[in-house]
Amino acid sequence: MNDTNLQMWKRAVKVIPGGVNSPVRSFVSVGGTPYFVQRAKGAYVYDLNGRRYIDYVQSYGASILGHADSRVTVAVSRAAELGTTYGAPTEGEVLLAEEVVERVRSVEMVRLVSSGTEATMTALRLARGVTGRNKVVKFDGCYHGHSDQLLASAGSGVASLGLAGSVGVSANAVSDTLVVPYNQVPVLDDETACVIVEPVAANMGLIPPQEGFLSGLRRECDRVGALLIFDEVITGFRVAKGGVSDLFDVDADLYCFGKVMGGGLPIGALAGRSEIMRQLAPTGPVYQAGTLSGNPVATAAGLTVLRALDENSYSMLEGRSKYLAEGLEKVISEAGFDVQIHRFGPLLSIFFGDLTVTDYLSAKKSVALGAYPYFFHAMLQRGVALAPGPYEVMFPSLAHSWDDIELSVDLASAAANQAFTEW
Ligand code: PLP
Repeated sequence: MNDTNLQMWKRAVKVIPGGVNSPVRSFVSVGGTPYFVQRAKGAYVYDLNGRRYIDYVQSYGASILGHADSRVTVAVSRAAELGTTYGAPTEGEVLLAEEVVERVRSVEMVRLVSSGTEATMTALRLARGVTGRNKVVKFDGCYHGHSDQLLASAGSGVASLGLAGSVGVSANAVSDTLVVPYNQVPVLDDETACVIVEPVAANMGLIPPQEGFLSGLRRECDRVGALLIFDEVITGFRVAKGGVSDLFDVDADLYCFGKVMGGGLPIGALAGRSEIMRQLAPTGPVYQAGTLSGNPVATAAGLTVLRALDENSYSMLEGRSKYLAEGLEKVISEAGFDVQIHRFGPLLSIFFGDLTVTDYLSAKKSVALGAYPYFFHAMLQRGVALAPGPYEVMFPSLAHSWDDIELSVDLASAAANQAFTEW
């Protein structure tokens, strides 16, 4: 920590709770105080002292082309010059919705919102409206944003802070939320409105679905007439051109998107078949709205990013991420740790220990070994920024060159040796 960062930190904590505007950015679970980002370009962020870090946070997955990609910055400034918000429909919203419909197999309509949280919150309301039922099933350790009803046993920042949920959420708000273990198909009853799931879990570290899990959920939802919601806020347009739909032979009834499709600006989306989506106001009785929904600057950025992503982008990401995952596993284990790197396409995470991790319970056991904070700080000291929380995944971007990836593995070798000594 250098003085400039520290000085800003001291000012920040006086005027912003905990010094951060999203708890995952704080260093509470790894110790120390955060670096403040002054600017970013491609694979790198620079702190207030001009120190460079190879950045695997990438705004928690909102940047896939890397920071300040010139195609995006040009689109953003052009859009901004034409006006930043109108409160009337725009062509950009139609183009972005068409792009999503074209990419995701079972999606016919899209409602744009301003965050992933809004997308999942609306998905639940819509599922309840369509089915006339109240119960929602979610999985232990899956994070779906911070709406009251979904804050039960969420992973990510809630887990990093050691909270079971949140104070301020009434018992009533979560009384219809059932939490069950990931990778096990629950038996549903006919009061269930919907099952919401991260089809590839990425908020309790990276935990891919086991064979038969997603298809089992589809079957069980169909059996009782519940809707299946895939929360693809992280996986959407990142793991493949059309998200998980391209990789699993399972269709959800509703999809939630965000992050990548906003090109680094605030966006979220709810998407699905027309018969369900038409139940939203103004065509249907399920109300949802937003002053900044479908914001012209955000749609311009999102459209630019989606159009830049082709099959070649995904094979590039796959190759580099595979090398990174294998490299990290090798050097961290050579340093003396038991370690497993989980990877699904371009998403990866580090689990210390030799336990097989398939759900939140096993993820928590790995995190309880307490190795991550040491590795995190040893990497940061060497100029590699990982997320300051053990339940977050790494987000290599298209801007991470082979040199960046190789350098990261080299630095990880030294970092792991230091971490093992200190742990
Ligand atoms: N769903 C998932 C899977 C997420 O990872 C997140 C955020 O990390 C959200 C929903 C909430 O999105 P937002 O932070 O844009 O509200």
